[in-house]
Amino acid sequence: MSGGTFVGMPAFPTAAREALGNAQLRHNLAHATGTIRAKRQRLVDEVNEVSDWEELRLAGAGVKEAALRDLGTQLELLEASLTANGATVHWANDAAEANAIVASIAKAHGVDEVVKVKSMVTQEIGLNEALEAEGIAAWETDLAELIVQLGHDLPSHILVPAIHRNRSEIRDIFLAEMGQVGRPAPDDLTDEPAVLAAAARAHLREKFLRAKVGVSGANFAIAETGTLVVVESEGNGRMCLTLPEVLVSVVGIEKVVSTFADLDPLLRLLPRSSTGERMNPYTSTWSGVTPGDGPQEVHVVLLDNGRTNALADEVGRQALRCIRCSACLNVCPVYERTGGHAYGSVYPGPIGAILNPLLKGVGGPGPEGEQVDSLPYASSLCGACFEVCPVLIDIPSVLVDLRAQVVDAHRGGVPKVEALAFKGAAVALSDSRKLAFGERFTRLGLRVARRFGAAKWTSTRDLPPAPPESFRAWWKRTDGGRS
Ligand code: SF4
Repeated sequence: MSGGTFVGMPAFPTAAREALGNAQLRHNLAHATGTIRAKRQRLVDEVNEVSDWEELRLAGAGVKEAALRDLGTQLELLEASLTANGATVHWANDAAEANAIVASIAKAHGVDEVVKVKSMVTQEIGLNEALEAEGIAAWETDLAELIVQLGHDLPSHILVPAIHRNRSEIRDIFLAEMGQVGRPAPDDLTDEPAVLAAAARAHLREKFLRAKVGVSGANFAIAETGTLVVVESEGNGRMCLTLPEVLVSVVGIEKVVSTFADLDPLLRLLPRSSTGERMNPYTSTWSGVTPGDGPQEVHVVLLDNGRTNALADEVGRQALRCIRCSACLNVCPVYERTGGHAYGSVYPGPIGAILNPLLKGVGGPGPEGEQVDSLPYASSLCGACFEVCPVLIDIPSVLVDLRAQVVDAHRGGVPKVEALAFKGAAVALSDSRKLAFGERFTRLGLRVARRFGAAKWTSTRDLPPAPPESFRAWWKRTDGGRS
């Protein structure tokens, strides 16, 4: 079964327009993000009563930034610590290499299925599809990921991938699909959350008990001790991390932090910013192999997949601090109206709008290049994402910088209508006489633009009507409003 990767998605304006026509989606999103926003704010206020949320943000950003500045050394330390703990470390340049490593480990153990902890990075590399091509089924065990997988759907939120689904849709999916791939849902399934959760638990239990290989990502990787960390709310992740004989963890190289003490600010910032809780219900840590306890063969795949490109971007590199809390999604007015699918990536919302172009590079060819290049424009630049980001990623500044990079990448060749319009504006605005001359033709100019060149522009924005008279003419007629 496919876990759903975003292949061949249209550019953001097209995908967003389709999403805007879905009133149910907007209702589900507004309700869910509004609830999480309120919970988060209560906990931020609570921290501010006894200490300072801003100081905590600075500490979290500092920890991540320090590790990124010294990334090569930290990764070498991590590899040495993991190896000393009995884990096998693999390095993967890209998605294909990482997928091949995981598939070869599963094949070496003769399995045709693996259980998975919720993990963004394995979706980024399309691991489920790659394993499926090798005849290996990858079962998602996080409740929301299970809903997405059973629904042959795509994730639309970092934390709550099925945020676009309501309870009755989930019941229908469980009834129709669970029996196709394992234990069926009971016939009398209702849409009560507890009943749905019980059906998922029973369905997953047999998969947990049967699986010989587990696959995870990691929220953090500690160089000093060779410890990987996964935080989650349901405990399903912990089942995957402890029950199988073999554990394979795919970890983006930006997840490394230097010391165990570095977790302190991060584990206080993350749950408050993501689920609006003081602590994550389950924080699992594992350091290689412990004889007689848990997986007896542990592999760690350290993945680049564009991260060193992002690191080389002076403005954009701060995006690698991201701890995937999703707070920026929950406050974004654009995300709230379009949902996550419109971003065409496992990373949606404001962080997706910068992370995808940074990882993939702008100015690429074809529809995929167009899709990536559209993302830095998928924002009103209101700044709400920066205000909530627990690790102080200045997303608006990165968006503006990426917009400039997109423009630069398309210099030369046939100029776009937009570029011609701005060139014309630059000429007109450089001289008051030219501006006065141009004002006389504003109405005509707008009519011509509508007719010949602005269709693309006006398909996503309003072209304002021409004023009945120019400012200059109004000033002359009224003496600046005095007569
Ligand atoms: S960019 Fe900041 S707010 Fe958004 S998911 Fe990452 S850490 Fe959270």
